[in-house]
Amino acid sequence: MEFDYDLFVIGAGSGGVRLSRMAASYGARVAIAEDSRVGGTCVMRGCIPKKLLVYASHFPHEVEDAAGYGWSYAPGTFSWPTLIEAKNRELARLNAVYIALLEKSGVRLYNDRATVADAHTVDVSGQRVSARHIAIATGARPMLPTIPGIEHAITSDEALDLVSLPKTIAVVGGGYIAVEFAGIFNGLGVQVDLWHRGKQILRGFDDDVRNALASAMTKQGVSIRTGTGVLGLEKHSDGTVELLLEGGSHGRYDAVLYATGRLPNSAGLGLEQVGVELRMNGAVEVDAYSATCVPSIHAIGDVTARPQLTPVATRDGALLAATLFGGAPRAVDYEYVPSAVFSNPEVATVGLTEEEARMRYDEVDIYRTSFKALRHTLSGRDEITLMKLVVVRGNGRVVGAHMVGRDASEIIQGIAIAVKRGATKDQFDETIGIHPTAAEEFVTMRERVPPPE
Ligand code: NDP
Repeated sequence: MEFDYDLFVIGAGSGGVRLSRMAASYGARVAIAEDSRVGGTCVMRGCIPKKLLVYASHFPHEVEDAAGYGWSYAPGTFSWPTLIEAKNRELARLNAVYIALLEKSGVRLYNDRATVADAHTVDVSGQRVSARHIAIATGARPMLPTIPGIEHAITSDEALDLVSLPKTIAVVGGGYIAVEFAGIFNGLGVQVDLWHRGKQILRGFDDDVRNALASAMTKQGVSIRTGTGVLGLEKHSDGTVELLLEGGSHGRYDAVLYATGRLPNSAGLGLEQVGVELRMNGAVEVDAYSATCVPSIHAIGDVTARPQLTPVATRDGALLAATLFGGAPRAVDYEYVPSAVFSNPEVATVGLTEEEARMRYDEVDIYRTSFKALRHTLSGRDEITLMKLVVVRGNGRVVGAHMVGRDASEIIQGIAIAVKRGATKDQFDETIGIHPTAAEEFVTMRERVPPPE
């Protein structure tokens, strides 16, 4: 049977764009549909704008640190609208770059919502288009719990485009987005209370990392309130929003930002009707080759239950293109996926936490160092850098590397290559450090942390 396209991709985010361009490079005839801006979550309302705001939030600290080095500046002023305008200009540029990339690759772009009509047909702009393969790459969206007054909360989407900078903000949640935005707003001079239902922020990360970040954030002035659930929100006539908390205590803020996880965008796409299996939370069920239970339909990125990380989605896309059109089926490997939290200070990690390693292996050695970075000897800033290696005693393999501190993401990216390749602690030790850096500590940790009683 002759199809209009070899591949029709729904969703032009990082995963969908990579998939369609790679598929086209193999000679496939490809179309992609997007009902919002080409670029998706990461480029338009996630990683990129978030990191630009993170940079903006660092400057006041840099200026403070400069005093110890002899610099003095008159008190500065900050214009939120200028920052948002500059950020939006950059997003417009990136949007145009993505569209140009698709065009150059020969991918046909439909600026409209597409739905699946049957196993080989999509409905786009009221038009039926047939394809040998269909790929779902529709991403995820913020999840808001159903509590009274939740409509008064904003999510990270709105936080990136607030008309004015609030004076006070409550951030609800203790994951990536909550700690990143707490750091951004705190750095920009906003009074931040972070409300988290659990005992400590960043569940799933190594406990030493969680404690170190919480203590660093607290020192910077973020008020971290753990062990407290939010029962509801109430808006007052002066525009402030009140958090109704468990235990009866209340707090009133100019804005309340919810960062309580993200849900796959799988509803209303016609997936269930054609027999694609979805999980309870809407994630599309796929195998290691990104195949759903309908042979002609695949799914990649945040719409599946895989780690919600851009480089995972782009790898999904590249490997699916190779599987469908490159003549070599390739499964995605999720072992040792590094990740970073762009909090202040940064957190970055690859591999197992100490707790996970102790569950998986009989004997585990821990190497840990925490120190004041050279930069802060003169700046006087009371900030500790933490590094930790988790090692399997039997074979000496490093199965986890964790860091809290400046440039942690940049440092762990390199360490991740060694950990992924199965490097041992001896091989770390044989590597000569670069001096004076913080990173050299990863190859000079000699003392084992005494095992827990
Ligand atoms: P996360 O899953 O990271 O964290 C969600 C947080 O919200 C947890 O602390 C969770 O608590 C809490 N929570 C969940 N449900 C409720 C509820 N009903 N009421 C109160 N608290 C609740 O989600 P995020 O929204 O922060 O981010 C989504 C994903 O996006 C991340 O997991 C990550 O994969 C990705 N991301 C990656 C970034 C990066 O790479 N730097 C940056 C931003 C996002 P508990 O721990 O108790 O479950």
